[in-house]
Amino acid sequence: MSGAKSVSPENRTVIGLTFGNSNSSIAYTVDDKAEVIANEDGDRQIPTILSYVDGDEYYGQQAKAFLIRNPNNTVAYFRDFLGKDFEHIDPTHNHASAHPKDVDGAVSFTIKDKAEEDAEPSTVSVSEVATRYLRRLVGSASDYLGKKVTSAVITVPTNFNDKQKAALLAAANAADLEVLQLISEPVAAALAYDARPEAQVEDKIVVVAELGGTRSDVAVIASRQGMYTVLATAHDYEFNGVALDKILMDHFAKEFLKRNPSAKDPRENARGLAKLKFEAEATKRALSIGANASFSVESLSDGIDFASTINRLRYETLSRTVFEGINRLVESVIKKAGLDVLDVDEVILSGGTAHTPRIASNFSNIFPQTTRILAPSTNPYAINPSELGARGAALQASLIQDYEADDIDQSTHAAVTTVAHISNAIGVVSLNAAGEEIFVPVVPAETAVPAKRTVHVAAPKDGGDVLVKFVEGNTHIKVTKPEPKPKEDKTAKVEDAADSDEESDFSDDDEEEEEKREKVWKIGNTLAEAAIRNVKKGGKVEVTVQVNADLSVILTTREVGAQGGVRGQLNA
Ligand code: ATP
Repeated sequence: MSGAKSVSPENRTVIGLTFGNSNSSIAYTVDDKAEVIANEDGDRQIPTILSYVDGDEYYGQQAKAFLIRNPNNTVAYFRDFLGKDFEHIDPTHNHASAHPKDVDGAVSFTIKDKAEEDAEPSTVSVSEVATRYLRRLVGSASDYLGKKVTSAVITVPTNFNDKQKAALLAAANAADLEVLQLISEPVAAALAYDARPEAQVEDKIVVVAELGGTRSDVAVIASRQGMYTVLATAHDYEFNGVALDKILMDHFAKEFLKRNPSAKDPRENARGLAKLKFEAEATKRALSIGANASFSVESLSDGIDFASTINRLRYETLSRTVFEGINRLVESVIKKAGLDVLDVDEVILSGGTAHTPRIASNFSNIFPQTTRILAPSTNPYAINPSELGARGAALQASLIQDYEADDIDQSTHAAVTTVAHISNAIGVVSLNAAGEEIFVPVVPAETAVPAKRTVHVAAPKDGGDVLVKFVEGNTHIKVTKPEPKPKEDKTAKVEDAADSDEESDFSDDDEEEEEKREKVWKIGNTLAEAAIRNVKKGGKVEVTVQVNADLSVILTTREVGAQGGVRGQLNA
């Protein structure tokens, strides 16, 4: 971040920020706990929207309300345009607000942002829009904290490229904000969970499903002793919150037309469409909490008021394609990481759309019972999915705020992005009670390097000379077919099976029909062997594996409590 704005550590007031296409949020830490800040309107999820009326600038929820009456001077869904050329943007979501324009290749908006009646509209670049918006966020945070906020950690999607990051940094700097670090959204969500006082640092594979308004991003992360490694990511721009709004908009528009056959379709005029959208989103949110929700719009079309209700089941049936798209996205990224659902210890649902109970319960069907699904509807200890990113960013900001900008750049950057990691586990061969060889992992797969781990393994019970065999280990999935069923209801079962295949996300699975899948270790290549002489009866052997940054490995073993030992080095 050379050349970027920097503030000396003693003069900093830091926050964590998420800056989404749909919403943004702000958090800060107090006594090592992250808190999300409400802006002056009382909002914690602040719509990423700016609107201009008679030269006054509105932001957040107030600006969002102007999408109905003042769409041309309201700029929405602009974050993803930062750092992109006009020819590479997708303006789909901007049809009902200020349209992006091509000004010498740069994305810009033409809006009336001056007070004078006869003033010419201004052409404002997306960078300038981002700066103005970030300035408002920082202003709200400063008002809340009672001192000027100087610095922030900001979350970005995992597929933000260097140009996009540079554009975001420049926009933040122009808003007089020092960016301590950009961290990826899924890592921020994982941090928000792992930094809780009751959390235990454990090695785990975490899937973070970041479900927003305009995009769904899923990442598989290996967490190894508090270090995060992003193993695989997937991005989707079709199965998202906006698609769910659209489903409800269409549903109620059709009902309106059925009741008022001679009225014009509200979707065919801009104001009707904006009203439908606004209310559909509110109805959708209500359906995340209640079994029923109302929908009511004054003067929807031809001056006719409209009021109706919908229940959650109906909504879920209508939205099935979107939910299934999200399921597929999650399954695909696990595959891309070379893993199986059985490898996943935790699924974190993050982002506004993650409040949807059906999405979380579908995940419970995809993953085994041993996987923790962290969503409000499936886990009482889940953190509000809309707050995870900002909380994680704030925690990271408080961790690094005492460092000089240059040191942050060099030391912490890699820790939370993709770093070198080993792909197979390294461990030793031991014998189980039945005398069969088994793999005992010392360093789990996907551990970021450098890393050093030690385990104690029981020696054969009579002691004596022990041969320690260092090997690579990998897991495979053992599938056990169910016992065949009694024959009498065979036809019925066949139909059931076909049915349940198609309905897999929506019907209760027939437990008895399921085959058993379990993760088992397979012993791979032998790396080295070491002999330890005269181990005591009932003694233990200590095994240490150290993987260096260049992926060379140092293996050490000795009898626990004894002097000396055997040491060997393998080059990468
Ligand atoms: P993106 O960048 O993908 O556009 P974002 O990160 O800016 O999204 P989020 O606040 O994470 O924004 O997600 C916004 C989406 O979440 C909107 O579609 C909104 O309607 C939806 N949403 C917010 N709260 C709920 C809720 N309680 N139930 C269902 N959906 C919700």
